[in-house]
Amino acid sequence: MISTVLRSLFRKPATTRYPKVPFIMPDRFRGAPVVDSKGCIGCKICVRDCPSGAITIHTVGEKRFEVEIDLGRCVYCGQCADSCPKKVIEISPSFELAQIDRNKLKVVFHADPGIAACPDPEA
Ligand code: SF4
Ligand code: SF4
Repeated sequence: MISTVLRSLFRKPATTRYPKVPFIMPDRFRGAPVVDSKGCIGCKICVRDCPSGAITIHTVGEKRFEVEIDLGRCVYCGQCADSCPKKVIEISPSFELAQIDRNKLKVVFHADPGIAACPDPEA
């Protein structure tokens, strides 16, 4: 037992210092989807293919659409990004999404100015 304790004194810790030190997610990690609504054509293929019914498309003008994603329903599968024919949906590495009020998890990506930020947990 003493040898185990002594060995552990000189080993690197198994844990990380998150959240003090930001954690960089690995490549291809699927976090929150983000949408550049400027390029959306309103086809609703993403709505059809989303397995959790998390996406709503709002018409806001002639050939202008806003995409709303409910991150409280999203299962972070990435299907919407694969399905979108205009490739305006990206899967970001953003994962710090906790909110007290679940309505704040409904993110609207406005046609202007384009890519909206993920919800700010401090907001
Ligand atoms: S990542 Fe999956 S669950 Fe989330 S909005 Fe896209 S298709 Fe729906
Ligand atoms: S699939 Fe792409 S282009 Fe079609 S409605 Fe969804 S975000 Fe817009």
